[in-house]
Amino acid sequence: VCPTAALTEVNHVPKVWEALRNPKKYVVVQTAPAIRVALGELFGMKPGTIVTGKLAAGLRRIGFDKVFDTDFGADVTILEEASELLHRLENGGTLPMLTSCCPAWVSFIEHQFPDLVDIPSSCKSPHIMVGTIIKTYYAEKHNINPEDITVVSIMPCVAKKAEAARTELSIDDHENVDIVITTRELAMMFKEAGIDFDKLPDEDYDHPLGVTTGASVIFGTTGGVIEAAVRTVHEWKTGEELEQIEYEQLRGIEGLREGKVQVNGMELNIGIAHGLGNARKLLEDIRNGQSQYHAIEIMACPGGCIGGGGQPYHYGNEEVVKARQKAIYQEDQRKNVRKSHLNKEVLKMYEEYFDKPYSEKAHKLLHTTYTPKERI
Ligand code: SF4
Repeated sequence: VCPTAALTEVNHVPKVWEALRNPKKYVVVQTAPAIRVALGELFGMKPGTIVTGKLAAGLRRIGFDKVFDTDFGADVTILEEASELLHRLENGGTLPMLTSCCPAWVSFIEHQFPDLVDIPSSCKSPHIMVGTIIKTYYAEKHNINPEDITVVSIMPCVAKKAEAARTELSIDDHENVDIVITTRELAMMFKEAGIDFDKLPDEDYDHPLGVTTGASVIFGTTGGVIEAAVRTVHEWKTGEELEQIEYEQLRGIEGLREGKVQVNGMELNIGIAHGLGNARKLLEDIRNGQSQYHAIEIMACPGGCIGGGGQPYHYGNEEVVKARQKAIYQEDQRKNVRKSHLNKEVLKMYEEYFDKPYSEKAHKLLHTTYTPKERI
């Protein structure tokens, strides 16, 4: 993972073109939350320009059969992760619970803290959840053979390429996500296709896996996953509408932050780290029995995925990361629905397929395990 361009990724664009040219393939694309606030930079726009509508339009122009949003998987992640946190809190489970959306961080704990692999949430990451949902629920509903489906993820992240190949995340030995390309590779595709990106109209994502909430888009920045989870945990525990949903104490750009959140008479202690050096400090406290947190969000990249290694290079310029972060929060504010547990298409999917969050079927398809690995 390298936001400063010291390392570059393997180019998977030819594989995407090959899938798009194959008439037997039903090719579905999904885009991570952080893409929409950074892609424009590769077309001469200012950092933090929001290009969500052009992104959907451009993907449709280059021939994807469906244009879905990883944010849908982020909403599902929140339903599963919030259930898991409550389950651990109420049943004496392992605490703190750590978020598990970032594969670089998951790999870090497996190699560097193999004695702690029982503490990350067992939730698969949002794009892997979307891949799983497309090849099970969506395929069954639309009578498509999952083997004919190619899922392409557009990610801000180089580590997501390796994540998609993890056998722990497959279903029946099949990968849920077939190809991962980065924001930079997507810009390359648009340029190869001769698409005049800034002239594209604004279009919407396809239904149902393009219907998303404000909670899901904030996954793109440090602190966003845990804020989205708290919005849901609060309403589930109190049964009351949460009016002030912006948790300022969880926001910011400092590498290590903490916040205390009141939920139904209980104080939840939350830790946030971005950058693996900061993560190491929190993990050493846990190992030494000194952690006071109930839940911790960790992201490997500075700023979270907005500063990811697959994004337009920012060469360590914090102003660029801040501009992208501001845009992520604007996207959240723009949404009519801003809590994951109120996403109507997600709720419909649970009713039709998974029964309820944290059900046996949800566990089988949407959760995973971690493996202690040799220190490198
Ligand atoms: Fe990938 Fe970085 Fe986001 Fe982790 S924080 S998922 S490594 S882009």
